[in-house]
Amino acid sequence: MNFLSTNGQAPAVSFRQALLQGLAPDSGLYVPERLPSLPFSVSPDASLHLFGKHILTPLLEEIPLQDLTRIIERAWTFPIPLVKLTDQIYLLELFHGPTLAFKDVGARFMAETLSYVLVEEQRETTILVATSGDTGSAVAHGFYNAPNITVYILYPSGKISRLQEQQMTTLGGNIHAVEVAGTFDDCQRLVKHALADATLVAAHNLTTANSINLGRLLPQVVYYAWAVAQLQTTLSKEVSPTVVVPSGNFGNLTAAAYAKSLGVPIEHFVAATNANDVVPQYLETGSFTPRSSIQTLSNAMDVGNPSNLTRLQALYGNDVGRIRQDISSQRVSDEETIAEIRRTYDQTRVVLDPHTAVGVAAAR
Ligand SMILES: *Cc1c(COP(=O)(O)O)cnc(C)c1O
Repeated sequence: MNFLSTNGQAPAVSFRQALLQGLAPDSGLYVPERLPSLPFSVSPDASLHLFGKHILTPLLEEIPLQDLTRIIERAWTFPIPLVKLTDQIYLLELFHGPTLAFKDVGARFMAETLSYVLVEEQRETTILVATSGDTGSAVAHGFYNAPNITVYILYPSGKISRLQEQQMTTLGGNIHAVEVAGTFDDCQRLVKHALADATLVAAHNLTTANSINLGRLLPQVVYYAWAVAQLQTTLSKEVSPTVVVPSGNFGNLTAAAYAKSLGVPIEHFVAATNANDVVPQYLETGSFTPRSSIQTLSNAMDVGNPSNLTRLQALYGNDVGRIRQDISSQRVSDEETIAEIRRTYDQTRVVLDPHTAVGVAAAR
């Protein structure tokens, strides 16, 4: 399987190269050249790991099956259960990883695959990430002690939660957390500046580990198949659900759309956003206007210029009409988010975090 740049000005590469480079040399994002149609069936021994092998083997064909199996087993050491909330709504619990963020799923897989490739090629790399919380913690834990990798995490002083600051700063070893006197945007700017400096990139083999990297994005496809499998086991083999994805940078929704293209039975998607609603506006008007982000209660979704939208556009042939056939959208305000946390608690005694509450409100 080859991967192409969304900007169309860079040569096709293997997964290995896309993983090492992150961004394509023409500043585009790598996307699969074509998505094969895979048979979907739920056997009695179905599991997250089995779906991982089934879905990732054709995409990452350069990694031999026994190595891929080991990578999956080391990366995903926690369950991803589908839990009933109401008769109509099920929640996919992606928070059972070591840092409690769904980003553990992709970050741990990327760490294992990247180390595997680097050790084989006898190379080393330095990863630089900016974070407002979730990414930094998941990357720090996912890459801790990963052979041939050094990580620098830039976080804004006083602007992340105490728990997440501790998750990033107490590991040591190959993980270096850098407290920046500034905002998340300042951290992001420093990272972009460094990655744009060819001398620095070459001297330290610099790369990054956010969802522009396919090594983080592709593994996320797997849990959509696993979610539908769990739903079909609970309800019936015929069920093809609508999947609501609380979205920020739109990596998670892109992975979901890849799952549907690969043959996972999903009827439709709802992109749920907070007040940062550039994608809902794009779906309504057909024109995309990035903005600065607005601060909300669901802060991991405060993104004004989502990177992965270009991947979704590429998947649907840059035709907004085709995107609309598969993806609807819904924006949810902070007031509605709070109301949803209260409503769900009153009805079910389940405490939703603000990001999930955006998704549940959109689902209702
Ligand atoms: C990162 C994150 C999101 C946004 O995911 P994208 O893939 O960037 O759309 C949503 N919720 C939580 C809790 C997150 O950590």
